[in-house]
Amino acid sequence: MSNRAATRFDGVQKSATYAVFDMVARLRAQGVEVLDLGGGEPDFDTPVHVVDEAVHALREGFTHYTPSRGLPELLDAISVKLAKDNGITVDPATDVLVTPSAKHALFAALVTVLDPGDELMVPTPSWVSYTAMARLIGAHPVQVGLDGADGFRITRELLEAHVSPRTKALLVNSPNNPTGHCLTQEEARAISRFAAEHDILLIADEIYEKILYDGREHVSLGALPCCADRTITVNGFSKGYAMTGWRLGYAAGPTDLMTQMLKVQQHTVGCTGSFVQRGGVAALTGPQEPVREMREQYTHRRELVVDGLNALPGVVCSAPDGAFYAFADIRGTGFADAASFAQWVLERANVALMPGSAFGPGGEGYVRLSFATSPRVLRAAFERIGRALAERG
Ligand code: PMP
Ligand code: GLU
Repeated sequence: MSNRAATRFDGVQKSATYAVFDMVARLRAQGVEVLDLGGGEPDFDTPVHVVDEAVHALREGFTHYTPSRGLPELLDAISVKLAKDNGITVDPATDVLVTPSAKHALFAALVTVLDPGDELMVPTPSWVSYTAMARLIGAHPVQVGLDGADGFRITRELLEAHVSPRTKALLVNSPNNPTGHCLTQEEARAISRFAAEHDILLIADEIYEKILYDGREHVSLGALPCCADRTITVNGFSKGYAMTGWRLGYAAGPTDLMTQMLKVQQHTVGCTGSFVQRGGVAALTGPQEPVREMREQYTHRRELVVDGLNALPGVVCSAPDGAFYAFADIRGTGFADAASFAQWVLERANVALMPGSAFGPGGEGYVRLSFATSPRVLRAAFERIGRALAERG
């Protein structure tokens, strides 16, 4: 047998973000002092009261399976949160699913709605895993390249240019990884009209919801009247609560879809870690001060990074509305493309970045810098990159 893996893997690359995580680990093991602005992972510790609750759960023997849908108290806490923060009304008993990571919630949502051959519209630049997930289940991702000159806005015209009779769903990520763009009310209205008129489902990835700047307000597609019955909202604890290693996320949506999605969970992972879910309850129902503090730190870092980038010759970067990434236009630096720039910066400055081209159409000519790292590291990175560019002349 020559082709032992399924043909679904055709066109599926290894994750570009994990490639950077792995490369940084490899270089560090070789003794290279790499400054990592590549993978997006908060450097903060998980809030203490969340850790305490999970430890307490472990110590009291809370180490067994939970209901596949999730712990009732966590399902309740999620539905209260969705109503309060997002204006989304769901029944915790039927419309919510707790998953081991938002990543798995997204995968389960796509398995739930896409048949092989269906098209999933993905506005790009987008996080690296959406298109791979669609391909892994035999569906076709249709990338809708957004325009950096237009602030990576999603417009009705762009959506109309990419829709087809096979389009089943549109995946929208706001605040956006990698561009930092947040949906405006106007964009949300355009998306909702488009979805209703073409009878398309929406998957809303809201994982960066807590990380917003300049008083911006998060817009949830699932809260719009004509979207409530066609939107699966995905969220998680990794970014807002600095809980990446816990693997905890959730999805919420219309009962018929969530009933099927529960089957994906039952037949794959079974349930999410019991004590991990207890930590999730503490995160949602406990003090939110740590979340505010992290957001303040990100605000300070954002300024540092945007100023640092704009001070580099040939680099232009506008301030992101949300999330913890700066998406900088490097076309003025004279490098052939984003990948060669990122490679050169890694070799000359030992700073890891993500080339924008990894995020699909619209990303070429840009690099993504994660500022989920300390100001000390950020300052040192800009010093190194600045010096390397100056030496290059
Ligand atoms: N969506 C986006 C846009 C992300 O950047 C991430 C981070 N990896 C995820 C979903 C998944 O988050 P997690 O699996 O850690 O919950
Ligand atoms: N979301 C992060 C990133 O984009 C983490 C890596 C991943 O899960 O892809 O860097």
